[in-house]
Amino acid sequence: MKRDYYEVLGVAKTAAAEEIKSAYRKLALKYHPDKNPGNKEAEEKFKEINEAYEILSDAQKKQQYDAFGHDAPGAGGNPFGGGGSYTQYGDDMGDIFGDIFSNVFGGAARRSSSRTSQRRGGDLRVDIEVSYADAMKGSEVTIDIPKRESCPACAGSGAKDKSKPKQCPQCKGSGQVRYSQGFFSFQQECPQCKGKGTVIDNPCPQCRGEGTVKQKKSIKVRIPAGVDEGTSLKVSGSGNAGSNGAPSGDLYVVVHMKHMQGFKRNGDDLYTEIQVSFSQAAMGMEYDVAVIEGYVKVKIPSGAQPGATLRVREQGFPRLGARSRGDLYVKINVNIPKSMNDLQKKALFEYAKAMGEIPKDSQYQSDNFFKKIFK
Ligand SMILES: [Zn+2]
Ligand SMILES: [Zn+2]
Repeated sequence: MKRDYYEVLGVAKTAAAEEIKSAYRKLALKYHPDKNPGNKEAEEKFKEINEAYEILSDAQKKQQYDAFGHDAPGAGGNPFGGGGSYTQYGDDMGDIFGDIFSNVFGGAARRSSSRTSQRRGGDLRVDIEVSYADAMKGSEVTIDIPKRESCPACAGSGAKDKSKPKQCPQCKGSGQVRYSQGFFSFQQECPQCKGKGTVIDNPCPQCRGEGTVKQKKSIKVRIPAGVDEGTSLKVSGSGNAGSNGAPSGDLYVVVHMKHMQGFKRNGDDLYTEIQVSFSQAAMGMEYDVAVIEGYVKVKIPSGAQPGATLRVREQGFPRLGARSRGDLYVKINVNIPKSMNDLQKKALFEYAKAMGEIPKDSQYQSDNFFKKIFK
């Protein structure tokens, strides 16, 4: 059972943003792995604290968490939640810690996360809209995203004219220097190489020594049949390029369903409605129900009541990663005619007679039709 996020940070549910931030800082500092080397319990605590803060520090996620608890979309397992259509992560954590440590130690230490000269590229997220038809049968889409690609001019080295980056003299290539204050000893990012471990005498002019450049890239993504709102598709290696030949990050494609007039989706089940006449409902019939693509033949039993729902097995959406499908639910709406011609009125008059609703010897006259029936 997951602990309540407020409990994790030791704040009240009514705590203000400042209070939450300050509680988080205190705890994060206490359980930071650098201060508790090899302490598994502290590490778990640290993770828990970060997860709680990630949700409670974001107004939108916090609101969802307050409403739905750990079942909230975006809480817990899913590293994303809400937000814009194009997101980039990677350095956020570093920035939070930079923030903490600069506050506690007067700005001397910035980052304590370990870095080497090779850094994996950041993950990217892109949100797409998928139609019901594509969710039914699957499709392939091409997505244009701006992402960091290995610099073609220097082949990702960041150095000009095939010159090689050399080991940073200050940190001897580790990217970290040790820093002590009082009882504590911290590793911090090397100020000379900014944690890369290497320095470049002649930076590549195209990427300014970064080794990567921002480019628009078209990426083909297969949308499997059965995707639904919130499905996150991982495209391995299609995130930002890593620095100095390190592996690329991953691309996460998050699905949003495009609504379709006349249909509703609930899980793998598809819902629609049909209109039949009073006589069709009374006598029963075969009906071709329009579905996402094409029609499904449905038998309406005689005596079908307004609002009755028919279930047609295996005519809903495919189940993601399975061979089975959801079901189709068809709600029957019965239409009462708003106007009738003389012939129709006469037939209905005879019907009412046959049902014993009016006396058998009544004679039909078009102008006092209602008088006769409701006398
Ligand atoms: Zn260095
Ligand atoms: Zn370059």
